[in-house]
Amino acid sequence: MIPTPTHLDIEGALRFHGHSCPGLSMGIRIAEVALREIGPHSVDEEVVCIAEADHCGVDAIQYLTGCTAGKGNLIHVDHGKSVFTFVRRSDGKAVRISARPEFWGRSDPKDGEISGRMRAGQPVSDEDRDYVQQSRERRIQTILDAPLQELFEVREVEIDVPDRARIVNSVVCAECGEATMSTRARSFRGQLYCVPCFEVLTQAEL
Ligand SMILES: [Zn+2]
Ligand SMILES: [Zn+2]
Repeated sequence: MIPTPTHLDIEGALRFHGHSCPGLSMGIRIAEVALREIGPHSVDEEVVCIAEADHCGVDAIQYLTGCTAGKGNLIHVDHGKSVFTFVRRSDGKAVRISARPEFWGRSDPKDGEISGRMRAGQPVSDEDRDYVQQSRERRIQTILDAPLQELFEVREVEIDVPDRARIVNSVVCAECGEATMSTRARSFRGQLYCVPCFEVLTQAEL
């Protein structure tokens, strides 16, 4: 029993992500707002998503809106916040979608207690396991059924449209011999290094 935003390919998003979870459900609802306010990414209309978190929900956003990490129109800035800003290039319209803590912060204390024991590797009864499973399914359904305004604050914002993904030259790391984008290469004592090698070298210096 899942689909609520019936016009969206939720089954496809589930397959893409690999399991059903509250995070994916959040992403489905974010995509719903983005598609309504900005429209999908297409060949003639580039839409860029700036994701301030990288949880399960990002997979639903990629699958449903066409903003993907590989194309470079999904930009992750690691703020650890469930805030997603979508902008379309043709007219610069941008919306910022942020998860309302009043909704997302609500949790079932019994579920939390059992889940805590499970994570700690303590034994749990079959009954407790079923409870957690059902609580999770209820949560997913609540997320899919809730009115969008209860889930998110959505507002139009003015932002600088991010640069298009560019093809950049590669340089060869002086340490490991692997190619690295020139924009990411680090210079150290007159040589160019990839980020992991640079970190090892400069760590050794300390
Ligand atoms: Zn997930
Ligand atoms: Zn290297």
